[in-house]
Amino acid sequence: MSGANGNDVSTGRVRAVGTPAVRTESLWKVYEHDDIRVEAVRDVTLTIEQGEFVVLAGPSGSGKTTLLNMVGGLTRPSEGGIWIDGIDVTALSERDLARLRLERLGFVFQAYNLLPVLTALENAEFTLLLRDVPADQRRARVEKLFERIGMGGLEDRRPGKLSGGQQQRVAVARAVVGEPALVLADEPTANLDTATSTALIDLMAELNRDLGTTFVFATHDTRLMDRARRVIRLVDGAVVDDDRRD
Ligand code: ADP
Ligand code: MG
Repeated sequence: MSGANGNDVSTGRVRAVGTPAVRTESLWKVYEHDDIRVEAVRDVTLTIEQGEFVVLAGPSGSGKTTLLNMVGGLTRPSEGGIWIDGIDVTALSERDLARLRLERLGFVFQAYNLLPVLTALENAEFTLLLRDVPADQRRARVEKLFERIGMGGLEDRRPGKLSGGQQQRVAVARAVVGEPALVLADEPTANLDTATSTALIDLMAELNRDLGTTFVFATHDTRLMDRARRVIRLVDGAVVDDDRRD
């Protein structure tokens, strides 16, 4: 299934050596409603290598979510290019985009986006279900993760019976359970106390170190920024600073 260049969307763990995890080229997103025009992302050119642990920082409204959503293929850019593992995301059909997301990406949404009718376990295992992983293996993997992030024993609760912080942890578990090559996480620690936030960051740092998973966070949480090896700062949709710490 894997192409010689590692670009087959079905082989999430195959990566061409030297191919960046993410590249954007002169990326713009402009929203126009009636006579209001918002330049949410302005001319962003970035390269994120495989295995980076990066924070997109910036005040509210600086374009972090819009940029992350474009990289994840959830929002189409107004102009410019996006490549994931060398694949031109803007050229993919909706079907191929969905497949690329399933096989290679984990996404933690700012608003969690859990399905209210499913239990915490069913929400967290969802990508494994789509990949035909057997039920006992799905449960075992989710239980192990839940134990790790202080959610042990809450597997059968529905989101409505979980706190905001607990729902956030389910959303993170759902994003990482399939061990995707790239995880995009929008404010993943925003509603968490320090101990829970540290446990989540530790988990993600361990996946980064052991599996080489690339993490891109949008956040203004200094606890997470302190652990990042690179902080890219956005102001009014544009990159104003790119600070590598290693
Ligand atoms: P951040 O995540 O850094 O808070 P956002 O990406 O959410 O920033 O927003 C960047 C700018 O784009 C803001 O001015 C916001 O109001 C605007 N924006 C975001 N989404 C939309 C949309 N769907 N329609 C119009 N404006 C939007
Ligand atoms: Mg945001």
